[in-house]
Amino acid sequence: MDIKLTGKKVLVTGGSRGIGRGIVLGLAHAGAQVATCYRTEGEAAASLARELKEIGGDHRLVKADVSDPAEVEALAETCRATLGSLDAVVHNAGVISHVPFSELSDEEWARVIDNNLGGPYRVTQKTLPLLSAGGSIVFIGSKVATVGIPMRAHYTASKAGLVGLMRSLTKELGPRGIRVNVVAPGPVETEEPVPPEVRERYRNLIPLGRLGTPEDIAGVVAFLASDLARFVNGETIDVDGGI
Ligand code: NDP
Repeated sequence: MDIKLTGKKVLVTGGSRGIGRGIVLGLAHAGAQVATCYRTEGEAAASLARELKEIGGDHRLVKADVSDPAEVEALAETCRATLGSLDAVVHNAGVISHVPFSELSDEEWARVIDNNLGGPYRVTQKTLPLLSAGGSIVFIGSKVATVGIPMRAHYTASKAGLVGLMRSLTKELGPRGIRVNVVAPGPVETEEPVPPEVRERYRNLIPLGRLGTPEDIAGVVAFLASDLARFVNGETIDVDGGI
């Protein structure tokens, strides 16, 4: 990644796998000092710790569930105690499920909204004291929030909610010099295997002829975290190959 983030301190939620992991590694390679969190202990978190060590720099890996207020409080406190301040917060942690709307339970609705919208609300509120003028908040939304997709009404509602949260925070935090934006990925290929017929369908749907990668998303996040984006505020940036 050509963007230089030397001296920047960035918190990325949900960094052990998928897009979040790509963002963490991309920012660390660009010279940022990265703190990240995950929910589940295991090989994903352990291998991320090893990769960060190889890259070098002073990074932090914390077990914290963004749907748990006490764990978010502890995460923010770890950032304060070890980094002192933050230059950017990237809200990537999110969950999804595929359920026909007529079968959607209250519990599943609440779980997805609470992780995808409640998490960013909580993490923003608790880390805000660590951000100052020049700070950048990035929510990872989704292209489907504006397009819609069957069996994901709860998921798309949570991601559309992030756009409203972002727009209002833009008005409230702009006077303090803090920028807030949404990055809305299209279909991204992570560690999860993509069935050949799904890959083929997306190849035909996406003008650039392939699924996105975590690195594609990391590049735009790095730009928004950098001073190059100092006048980019209140935007939803689709990163979807033109789908
Ligand atoms: P993955 O399921 O592959 O990875 C999610 C990561 O977030 C894991 O590291 C997971 O850790 C962590 N995580 C999940 N919930 C929590 C939580 N409550 N607290 C802390 N960490 C958590 O997801 P993706 O990489 O596919 O997606 C990342 C983001 O991008 C999500 O917000 C998703 O909605 C969005 N997105 C993804 C697209 C895609 O095609 N993949 C397209 C558009 C948007 P652990 O394993 O410990 O639970």
